[in-house]
Amino acid sequence: MGSGQVTDWQGRNVTVAGLGVSGVPAAKVLHGLGAQVTVVNDGDDERARAQAAELTALGVTVRLGDGDTLPEGTDLIVTAPGWRPDKPLFTAAERAGVPVWGDVELAWRLRGPDAAPWLAVTGTNGKTTTVRMLAAILEAAGLRTAAVGNIGVSLLDAVLGDEKYDVLAVELSSYQLHWAPSLRAHSAVVLNLAPDHLDWHGSMEAYAADKGRVYEGNRVACVYNVADKATEDLVRAADVEEGCRAVGFTLGAPAPSQLGVVDGILVDRAFVENRQRAAQELAEVSDIDPPVPHNVANALAAAALARAFGVPAKAVRDGLRAFTPDAHRIAHVADVDGVAYIDDSKATNTHAAEASLAAYESVVWIAGGLAKGAVFDELVAGAAARLRGAVLIGVDRALIREALARHAPEVPVVDLDRTDTGAMLQAVQEAKRLARPGDTVLLAPACASMDMFTNYNKRGDAFAEAVRELGAGA
Ligand code: ADP
Repeated sequence: MGSGQVTDWQGRNVTVAGLGVSGVPAAKVLHGLGAQVTVVNDGDDERARAQAAELTALGVTVRLGDGDTLPEGTDLIVTAPGWRPDKPLFTAAERAGVPVWGDVELAWRLRGPDAAPWLAVTGTNGKTTTVRMLAAILEAAGLRTAAVGNIGVSLLDAVLGDEKYDVLAVELSSYQLHWAPSLRAHSAVVLNLAPDHLDWHGSMEAYAADKGRVYEGNRVACVYNVADKATEDLVRAADVEEGCRAVGFTLGAPAPSQLGVVDGILVDRAFVENRQRAAQELAEVSDIDPPVPHNVANALAAAALARAFGVPAKAVRDGLRAFTPDAHRIAHVADVDGVAYIDDSKATNTHAAEASLAAYESVVWIAGGLAKGAVFDELVAGAAARLRGAVLIGVDRALIREALARHAPEVPVVDLDRTDTGAMLQAVQEAKRLARPGDTVLLAPACASMDMFTNYNKRGDAFAEAVRELGAGA
């Protein structure tokens, strides 16, 4: 299996590693193309058995309870992106010279000869928001497009379905990029780089290198974050097509070959006739919802990719105006007694929480949950001057409490030693007690939610519910 399209799947032995959101559709598609498909899966629970039964009925072989043994005669492994590269299955594959593709690589290889180009977005935080902004801008330009990846349409559907696209706005995680060696985007952005998922990648260097793969073979523009030098370094290290440009985005005034902000206006000095002397106005900061700094950065990144694709300035403005943020990402829940309550439950790591804390002057911060090995010193030291108080929840709250004691000893802290469903209501009540008119109560936990909630959506819903109760009782 070289690096090009594979057109003849008859008789190929393909092992699909992992049932689930990517494995089941991949197995079906490959089976439909004529491959001999075996699915291997670590788990053997009820859900896996139901999925296995469905696939077996089609003629796919499924092995439950053993995701580590390489089936005899395997020509190719198609893996779920989350499977760790140090798994014995992959060691065995390497020894046997068997290539491993992730879900993105599979979609890339299966797309047709006149397929839509990809505008790719990765980064530690802001991917979903940026991809959706980008899709809104492309739509405003009259292009047939979709936001794909972890959101909306699945990549396989986008590539193989009947719907015809002019261009795709593709969100890619570091895992997906790790397993996508031959992906070549039209243009791409790494929004930012902060330590995340390091246990999976093995090191910060390996994590950065996987993110950097998004730039490999770009044709028109490699978009980077001027404020995050690591992203520019990745552009430099990438092997791109002749003529592909490095384009920066900045919250400050843009230099030539950059997009930036001047007097509340988003300005393009990259995709204009004379970038030494001319600049093109794209939109106003007030067109962005919400117009907080990290979200303006997301809008600039989206605008840069759209402009790389040739979209006119007006479509950038119209697209940004049409865009509405997803739930639980800096969502304004209510004002109660002059205090704003903001749900940023999606801030599941310290880098995201840092960005949202920086967006408000005076904050009562609700934080805590599953820390996933994070260290909170830098976050707390940076935010200390803005904190009116903090309310801590979840199993790893002691880590945040200790960081607060070290770097913000004067900030009042309420430590909630409960993880039952009523805990969020109490957290919000405590936050209300600490807040003064003009303050913001911000749920930006800097932690995952699974110690107390099914997911970050449920955590945000519990917060919003608690705020509504507060309002009703006020
Ligand atoms: P992702 O898809 O990368 O998880 P989202 O767009 O869903 O990103 O945003 C997740 C969280 O990250 C948001 O709730 C916000 O707290 C934070 N965030 C969004 N954009 C940025 C950014 N550019 N820099 C830092 N943090 C950000």
